[in-house]
Amino acid sequence: MDSFTLPYFNVDSFPEYHCPTCGKGILENIEHHLIEDAETKNSKEHPEFGHEWIKYVIQAKLQCNRSKCKEAVLMIGNGYIEEYYDQENYLENHEYIANCKPKYFLPSLKMINISSYVPDDVRNALEQSFSLFFADFDSCGNKIRASLEILLDSKEIPAGKLHRRIENIENIENIDAELEKVKKLLMAIKWLGNAGSHGNEALNQNDLIKAYKIINVVLDIMFKPVDDLTEINSIADSLIETYS
Ligand SMILES: [Zn+2]
Repeated sequence: MDSFTLPYFNVDSFPEYHCPTCGKGILENIEHHLIEDAETKNSKEHPEFGHEWIKYVIQAKLQCNRSKCKEAVLMIGNGYIEEYYDQENYLENHEYIANCKPKYFLPSLKMINISSYVPDDVRNALEQSFSLFFADFDSCGNKIRASLEILLDSKEIPAGKLHRRIENIENIENIDAELEKVKKLLMAIKWLGNAGSHGNEALNQNDLIKAYKIINVVLDIMFKPVDDLTEINSIADSLIETYS
């Protein structure tokens, strides 16, 4: 997940993002365009204009490197020029590189792999959050929080304020014992989502990644089917009966 939180990267050296469609291939940068923004174009006549004034919109076409997939993914991001040089050999090792910070991917990159046993409505809510991960951190956190509401609905936890719903998990009769285990995890996501809903750029990508790590564990605890041990138990019984 580290490649998701890079502050900027050289546009000629893309991080190894996994393909959002097959999940196995790596996206390769097939072609990209640097488009100067209006402020950059209008400032070129200024006597003090320099490379540090240049700002780009970067458009890149990426493609999955797996021959069976070859999914195309478009990226839009912001960019700027950075001067790079070797201090001991300035003239020979001196270049300008374009750095890139992604804002959108289409289709969206997957922050976590959601297993097939997770209910579709929970999956859909989480996938909506993926599309906001690079563009709007607060809204992304808010969407992750919204996915918790749907997750609790799927377990038939009575409606109400999210905090109260999580607090009361252990008081509900005949409740799935797994829900008690995840109470603290759910509460952490709730607080993150609350901070995001204030809309004052409270959240950052590192905390969103932490939230996805927590959600990944929550999904396993809540939805992963328990292994059916009936068959293996009967095999064990037969061995015990024969050899004990
Ligand atoms: Zn692929």
